[in-house]
Amino acid sequence: MSQSFQAALTHAGQRLSGAGIEEFRREARILLAFVVGLDPLQVSMRLEEVLNAEQSAKLEAALRSRVARVPMSHILGYRDFYEHRFIVTPDVLDPRPETEELVARALSAPFENVLDLGTGSGCIILSLLAENSSARGLAVDQSAQALEVARRNAENLRLTDRLRFCRSDWCQELSAEQFDVIVSNPPYIHPAALKGLSPEVHHEPISALTDNIDGLSHYATIAHQAHGFLAPQGRLLFEIGYDQGAAVAEILRKEGYGDITILEDLDHRPRVVSCRARAEKME
Ligand code: GLN
Repeated sequence: MSQSFQAALTHAGQRLSGAGIEEFRREARILLAFVVGLDPLQVSMRLEEVLNAEQSAKLEAALRSRVARVPMSHILGYRDFYEHRFIVTPDVLDPRPETEELVARALSAPFENVLDLGTGSGCIILSLLAENSSARGLAVDQSAQALEVARRNAENLRLTDRLRFCRSDWCQELSAEQFDVIVSNPPYIHPAALKGLSPEVHHEPISALTDNIDGLSHYATIAHQAHGFLAPQGRLLFEIGYDQGAAVAEILRKEGYGDITILEDLDHRPRVVSCRARAEKME
């Protein structure tokens, strides 16, 4: 049965809306555009065109996945983040718009070298290197699969000459080096909060979402390990959950960091905590 783009859009919209997907119209258009290899805008201008059998089958498969609440990024294979498009697989956290705040804050002061702890897709450090064309970076992740995704993203963005990769549990495997900026979006969801999140989240790696303790333990570990890797006056920036500002600030204060600041995102929610290396060791 041959279907016009218009009919396919209507059908896809109904299936998605029936599955409780809020943005069903927008997603239907994106999925149709994806299976016919067009831009979503072009789809709207060619509504009389007809899908071939292969395209119809592809659309059906995509809809089935989406109705099962597989994230759009896993179906399409990418997510747009900050200024670029990133390959996303089930091995990495799906880059979130909130994390763009961390990128913007890191860019608000000069830096020559940057360390990204728990790089996942590489979306943070690659965005930073793309903006700051003189900077170099080190992307760290404990997952070999995540590092492979980050490496492919670096290749796509032609940033491999300025980015190194290291498989490590936070700073444990790093050799002595100092960075002007350390950024991290660690797994900070409280395990008790996981159940209440959208079904899409459960398609992401659990180790990228939660510490399975209290949502705060990775901040403490990183804050403790990072001293040895920060240049004098170097900055450490974390993404945080909206209710974690005070707790993370306290962890940093106890570790002796200075200039601790809780920064809000565009929705006026605490989203980033930044601080500076302590001037000298306190112990
Ligand atoms: N740094 C990646 C991101 O912000 C991955 C973070 C993570 O896995 N917790 O998207």
